[in-house]
Amino acid sequence: MDVSPDLHAHSTASDGVLSPAELMRRASGNGVRVIALTDHDTLEGLAEARAEADRLGMRFVPGVEISVTWGGRTVHIVGLGVDEGCAALQQGLSRLRGFRDSRALEIGRRLERAGVTGIYDRARALSNGRLISRTHFARALVEQGYAENVGDVFRKYLVRGKPGHMAGEWAGLEEAVGWIRDAGGQAVIAHPARYGLTRTRLRRLISDFAEAGGVGMEVVSGSHSRDDMFAMAVHVRDFSLLASAGSDFHDPENSWIELGRLPVLPDGVRPIWHDWDLG
Ligand code: AMP
Ligand code: MN
Ligand code: MN
Ligand code: MN
Repeated sequence: MDVSPDLHAHSTASDGVLSPAELMRRASGNGVRVIALTDHDTLEGLAEARAEADRLGMRFVPGVEISVTWGGRTVHIVGLGVDEGCAALQQGLSRLRGFRDSRALEIGRRLERAGVTGIYDRARALSNGRLISRTHFARALVEQGYAENVGDVFRKYLVRGKPGHMAGEWAGLEEAVGWIRDAGGQAVIAHPARYGLTRTRLRRLISDFAEAGGVGMEVVSGSHSRDDMFAMAVHVRDFSLLASAGSDFHDPENSWIELGRLPVLPDGVRPIWHDWDLG
């Protein structure tokens, strides 16, 4: 296997800019053989992505990235190999999308109070009638000249302490891992180095996650540095978790890392795909 499996990517079903089919074509063009679609809190893009991946001869892994509130902060749990027909998973995600809708209205109101007008309607339009994310607000704010780029918007408007911030009320950790397991999938902690947790807090998260039945953690991620990768490999070994790898690709114009262009996993960790039939 020359090109690493890419087990974390987004489409227009959530906050990515490529349609599920376009995303699959880009992955295939980059030589990817095993690809997951992991949109935030929705399974909506999976059917389209699978059809295109099949056509291109890529192994498709149906996935999801679930928003979780743990210890008063937001963390993301990826589910890999989930059955889209699972009612518990569908109902859980539907509740999270309901929260997204009310949060979006509130973010809009808070921005209005800060003198930033008309952003809710524009963010809603950019979400194309699908799930709405802070990324859509960020793109709307850049478009209206409130900030230079998406990263800038987050810093100035959307993170804790800024006018457009609203605390998440997402799934519980056990609950999210439970939905993934009910759907026959493997639960994976997404981009663990990105949460700014102390080593002790991170190990608490991993231990709670493992106790809930989680099995993997991203060691390679588009938002990890090389140092992060080696540090996360140590935790994965200590907790006997499986190591995952994903670009977290969202946008060709604006990405930390290209789809499928991932460093290889460090020695001494067991890849989450070690027992998948990749025939
Ligand atoms: P939400 O789930 O709606 O709260 O939005 C979270 C999404 O915003 C993440 O999945 C990222 O795609 C994006 N995001 C969060 N922080 C940043 C940042 N600092 N710069 C760019 N994108 C970000
Ligand atoms: Mn995102
Ligand atoms: Mn994430
Ligand atoms: Mn992601």
